[in-house]
Amino acid sequence: MAEKSEVKLLQEKICSQPKHAGLKLTEEEIQKAFDWNEHYKVFLDIAKTEREACRFAVNKAKELGFTEFKRNDELKPGDKIYYINRDKAVILAVIGKEHLNAGLRVLAAHIDCPRIDLKQHPLYEEREIAYFKTHYYGGIRKYQWTAIPLALHGIIVKADGDIVNVKIGEDDSDPVFVISDLLPHLAQEQNKRTLGEGIKGEELNLIIGSLPFRDDEISNKVKLGIMDILSKKYGIVEDDFISAELEIVPAFKARDIGFDRSMIGAYGHDDRVCAYTALSALLETKNPEKTCVCILTDKEETGSDGNTGLKSAYFQNFIYDIAEILNANPREVITNSECLSADVNAAFDPTFPDVVEKGNASYINYGLVMTKYTGARGKAGTSDCGAEFVGKVRKIFDDNKVIFQTGELGKVDLGGGGTVAAYLANLGMDVLDIGVPVISMHSPFELVAKTDVYETYKGFKAFLV
Ligand code: MN
Ligand code: MN
Repeated sequence: MAEKSEVKLLQEKICSQPKHAGLKLTEEEIQKAFDWNEHYKVFLDIAKTEREACRFAVNKAKELGFTEFKRNDELKPGDKIYYINRDKAVILAVIGKEHLNAGLRVLAAHIDCPRIDLKQHPLYEEREIAYFKTHYYGGIRKYQWTAIPLALHGIIVKADGDIVNVKIGEDDSDPVFVISDLLPHLAQEQNKRTLGEGIKGEELNLIIGSLPFRDDEISNKVKLGIMDILSKKYGIVEDDFISAELEIVPAFKARDIGFDRSMIGAYGHDDRVCAYTALSALLETKNPEKTCVCILTDKEETGSDGNTGLKSAYFQNFIYDIAEILNANPREVITNSECLSADVNAAFDPTFPDVVEKGNASYINYGLVMTKYTGARGKAGTSDCGAEFVGKVRKIFDDNKVIFQTGELGKVDLGGGGTVAAYLANLGMDVLDIGVPVISMHSPFELVAKTDVYETYKGFKAFLV
């Protein structure tokens, strides 16, 4: 090969040189990344809701010697604890060698995903078909959720307080459910609707049965037939739906995508991909210098409100509690804390190139995405991480050979969005968004590249040491 010219060498030295991870990594490293993703796929299939992801994290933590945090516990360096918030959010921590006043190293991801919830009076019958009425959760494109197999997950709290767990549509022998759409032959009027209105909120009606209860006296026989099945299977009556949280999620499993199997298609990469990578990094942390924390939170997709979302005080209260035990000043702990808000970003999609500015978009297979600011309309609603902390994190990644890129959420004044970063930054800690680039985000079947998932895990591990 000819020697590189001086100008070529100069260019390589001082100009940005983005490169596909498939060309940066060795074949062995790529295989390692692919193997690692097999575990991620298992997690995707067994933890589709916040409650299931929370349980998964707690079970893994317990296996590795983590114990449930109690306010009257003693704590010492090396201790591994977890704190569960209402079965929908969990904080895991490994106590560090340095005094807590030196601050925490925090990874914060969310485990709720866009989906469709049942209303409080969901069950009805129309022309001898039984349905559940729904209200969607988070930002979904409603038309994407029709004519695909759907599963039902969640809990029902009965009148006597007993809790019934529901998970139907995941086992191959289970039935699944579906939301109907029109056939093209009869869709002339519907086709005139805008895409956003193509399927309306009140049209997201879940088909759940069609056989009548065998009786000649009563009306609503199909509804009774379904209620009879539910009553026998779960011991519930119709009014028990009032105190239920039942979530409709895609029934399909995570699958490799592409002849080269380089990608994974699955429901809910946003943000189980950052949750899983962050959790894995924390669980592998042993005797860290600083106290390391991983938060898996709920309600991000609806704005982080509520007692399981990160706008609530639960994380702050946890810091106050451990600070008290470790004779630290909680305000000092928070001020000195550093956090990676683990959340996905929109990857460039060559089929829809116009929505992003190519020089600042993220790309699949170019490593984890560092997002300095989110927000919209002149950066409103973002914490906009300071250059010093971006510089510090960048150095950590460089020192540990973590492949990373930067990203933003679409063109100026076109895109926008938010993560939990702002709420944590509002407490007074340094926070930077780090995550995986995703194609078809918030759809029932999102797409990520395996190398990016692995680099994100490596990045989180490097940050926690
Ligand atoms: Mn999201
Ligand atoms: Mn997310």
